[in-house]
Amino acid sequence: MSLLSVDQARERILSHFQPVTTETLLLAGCSNRVLAQDIVAPNDLPPFDNSSMDGFAVRAADVTEVTSDSPRSLRVVADIPAGSHPTISLSAGEAARIMTGAPMPGGADAVVPVEDTSFNDRDAGAPAPLEVRVFKSAKPGWNIRPRGMDILSGEIVLNKKRILKPQDLGLLAMLGFANVPVFRKPRVALFSSGDELLPAEAPLEDGKIRDSNSYTLAALIEGAGAEVLRLGVARDNSDSVKALLDKAADLQVDLILSSAGVSVGAFDFVKQVIESNGSMDFWRVNMRPGKPVTFGEYKKIPFIGLPGNPVSAFVGFEVFVRPALAQLSGAMGRSRSAVRVQCAEQIDSDGRESYLRAQVQEENGALIAHLTGHQGSGNLHSLVQANALLIIPAGVKCVPAGQEVNAWLI
Ligand code: AMP
Ligand code: MG
Repeated sequence: MSLLSVDQARERILSHFQPVTTETLLLAGCSNRVLAQDIVAPNDLPPFDNSSMDGFAVRAADVTEVTSDSPRSLRVVADIPAGSHPTISLSAGEAARIMTGAPMPGGADAVVPVEDTSFNDRDAGAPAPLEVRVFKSAKPGWNIRPRGMDILSGEIVLNKKRILKPQDLGLLAMLGFANVPVFRKPRVALFSSGDELLPAEAPLEDGKIRDSNSYTLAALIEGAGAEVLRLGVARDNSDSVKALLDKAADLQVDLILSSAGVSVGAFDFVKQVIESNGSMDFWRVNMRPGKPVTFGEYKKIPFIGLPGNPVSAFVGFEVFVRPALAQLSGAMGRSRSAVRVQCAEQIDSDGRESYLRAQVQEENGALIAHLTGHQGSGNLHSLVQANALLIIPAGVKCVPAGQEVNAWLI
């Protein structure tokens, strides 16, 4: 059994995942979903020239010279609230009261804000005055948002594969996309395995522990934009493992994810069960924690088996499963990007690519990383205390204090 680098193992896994199919959803349900088509603007935005202030639409030529000492008086010939559709056109010496967002009337080419005029009745429903004195000059275009200043009809405004953000939904609404083509969510069947596992609600018994991985992994799957189908716990026997794998296959998931049962003792029957209906590889990956990883296919569905130790399962998810889900989801940019942080103390490593739990905080303008607690792969508490995984590259045995390394903020 050869030792794979992390990159080699990840590449092998990723070669088995293609983006899922697409569906059309109501806009309101599209937050964080992955856009399946480029979005082309069907109209200009704003769709018409409009005022960016409450004030008076004017002809700039009428008020180019005015000051508070020599104001210009204009006849107010119209009142234009937002939502109205003015049909008038201003002549020289005329103005129209206008509200923010209301369409500009013909003939007008500037808006004078209400505070620069003699009109100071701000009460709701106050009628427009017959005349208004303008105290400040204006130039053509002032306080007007011209049609198309934000977006021109025919422009691509959102690219396929983008993960839709709240503001994207607003833009889609502005452009009238009430139904949106998105990739469907990848579906992941998840189970834990081991005779020692109790449910979270059970009292402790001698020799038993509670199944924590299914909670951590389910939340990671959902956080990565996928749907999780929790199948429970497989016991350390072929029938139990086979029953859960068959259930996953019936559910037609895109990925079967399990934790534990891949160490030497338990491994043989999992391998047997999977190979009765597919194939399975057992890899030793040059990483710490999380060295044993299994990858295979059961009834044509990709299967990833993570190690059982809670921190190994978490790291294995980040290293292998998150990128696989990103690829399945059709998304660009759902994988983690690393930041550079400075090690507060010397870190000794064993030459494997190591993912160490650390608390990163800003100190005097630099990001400083302090390792947390016990770094053993069963110690979940030190992961809880961490906000980052430091990545010590393969081949490195010692990182001196003060040196920078890559980190994932978790
Ligand atoms: P295994 O891969 O089955 O050898 O398990 C490795 C270690 O992880 C053992 O100490 C298991 O008890 C522990 N473990 C396995 N599954 C879980 C789980 N679902 N939650 C918490 N610990 C687990
Ligand atoms: Mg086990």
